[in-house]
Amino acid sequence: MSATHDDGGCRQAAAPSAPRLSASEPNTLPEVFDRAVRRFADRPALDFFGRKWTYRDVGELTDRVAEGLIRLGVGHGVKVGLCLPNSPYSVVFYFAILKSGGTVVNYNPLYTPRECLAQILDSDTTIMVLPDIERVYGPVAAVADEAGLRHLVVCPFADALPFGRGVLYRLFKRTEKARVHDDARHVSFSKLLSGRSATQRRPAPRPDDVALLQYTGGTTGVPKGAMLTHANLAGNVRQLSPLMQGGGLRDGQERVLAVIPLFHVFAMTVAMNLALDMGAQIVLVPQFKIEELLATIARTKPTFFPAVPTIFAAINKAAETADVDLRSIRLCISGGAPLPAEVGARFEALTGCRLSEGYGLTESSPVVSVNPFDARRRAGSVGLPLVDTTIEIRDPNCSDRLMPAGAKGEVYIRGPQIMAGYWRRPADSSEVLVDGALRTGDVGYRDPEGFLFLVDRIKDLIICGGYNVYPRQIEDALYEHEAVEEVVAIGIPDAYRGESPKAFVKLRAGFPTTPDELRAFLSERISKIEMPREIEIRTSLPKTAVGKLSKKELIAEERERAGLAAMNRRASA
Ligand code: AMP
Repeated sequence: MSATHDDGGCRQAAAPSAPRLSASEPNTLPEVFDRAVRRFADRPALDFFGRKWTYRDVGELTDRVAEGLIRLGVGHGVKVGLCLPNSPYSVVFYFAILKSGGTVVNYNPLYTPRECLAQILDSDTTIMVLPDIERVYGPVAAVADEAGLRHLVVCPFADALPFGRGVLYRLFKRTEKARVHDDARHVSFSKLLSGRSATQRRPAPRPDDVALLQYTGGTTGVPKGAMLTHANLAGNVRQLSPLMQGGGLRDGQERVLAVIPLFHVFAMTVAMNLALDMGAQIVLVPQFKIEELLATIARTKPTFFPAVPTIFAAINKAAETADVDLRSIRLCISGGAPLPAEVGARFEALTGCRLSEGYGLTESSPVVSVNPFDARRRAGSVGLPLVDTTIEIRDPNCSDRLMPAGAKGEVYIRGPQIMAGYWRRPADSSEVLVDGALRTGDVGYRDPEGFLFLVDRIKDLIICGGYNVYPRQIEDALYEHEAVEEVVAIGIPDAYRGESPKAFVKLRAGFPTTPDELRAFLSERISKIEMPREIEIRTSLPKTAVGKLSKKELIAEERERAGLAAMNRRASA
């Protein structure tokens, strides 16, 4: 802590300042993209099932798509939805929208019609880009009228594949080619490209323009659109590149495995924007299926692999029975959720790579900190703040007060990657943007060298008989058991203690165990108050679109169960 002064009873301290980034680097995403196209023109940029596009190809196609979008009316501030599984269309449309001055709104292609409608209306999306796959097209088309969409730009998915429909059907088994309506609202990809060259150019976006509305809060609260500016997103790329170079990645030489969905901010920044900035080849995988993924790794020999813990765990598990060579992988970042120590260690042993855990949020574009890729790294830490980023640990009861090293508190972040606010939600924005810092809702502490350790999320905290129980302590302890593959701990209603912990566990195949055995195992590792009142074994646990274990569904189930039980009690009273 560098300086302190009194502030109305709360001791306030200035956080250590971070080194500054160079001002001469690109500060909008089209600048990042155009520079990559110039620098790496003849190098492969995209691989989709073996079909490849060079940087020059992607640059030319993106410019043509941008012209088509301008003809459709896209310009400054126009919201264009991207509702696509990972594919060359994801990359080309993302940059084309930005080049035409528009704002990208990312959609999960597996949304229900209701979810689509809500996000279209909230964000003011007027044009939606989507594939001709019924499972994705159907829900959007069903609400297009009600949502007031002006255009649906429909991309022929199989045309991007080297072997046509066969692969498409293998990938999306239960889906079929959509019967796309033929009316003035629908614009096919070929029609989008076919118009006369646009004479009207759009002014280049400015660093402070909103590049992206990224919806978040889906696992806990009402989804809100985080407004990420060009400077936020380009800034996060600039903050990450020295770290990746330090980890041994070389410009124009790497292959990046992009299996996490590009509509999620982690993949968007690390597997797309950063990858393009480094002149890497992006291997696009539209769906996470373990056999497909292993075959893709064997074929493309990726060198850099950003993913979430559940994907690393799935590969570890598959490697127990499949004969896979994963040794091309040199560097990995795990993000989005806590990485169980043995999952990381096992993956490193299988591949010989360096797997470092990173931390971030949608609201911070997303990367905040990463564990160094060298000997300095700390087990269990999410690392050191990126360049130009300051992490503050504040007293949850007196947010003006900074906590000393080792003490737990709420994590606040400052840096160029912090969002401009939530779209049309000033009250929510001022809740989380406090004196220019992002209030994360995460509890953590820093060690004396500045390494950040996360304890849990404040909103996941279980208040059990007046004690704070962090579900993560229970989860980490259960992960130490060899039979436990996945675990989620939540608070459930408890008539006596207010809330009690409950753990849901998925077991590894071939490792039978019982809740009582797990409880006995836990009794040596956690306190009595943390001991789950119930341990339920399930064959699978809910996950979010990016593959994070999700608490929302389990909490809803337990609430419903508690509500029904209360109703039954009242009925029989
Ligand atoms: P989202 O905005 O949906 O990506 O979620 C951000 C949240 O994910 C953060 O506030 C953290 O609670 C959690 N998170 C991200 N990275 C990690 C990590 N490495 N370990 C633990 N939690 C994480």
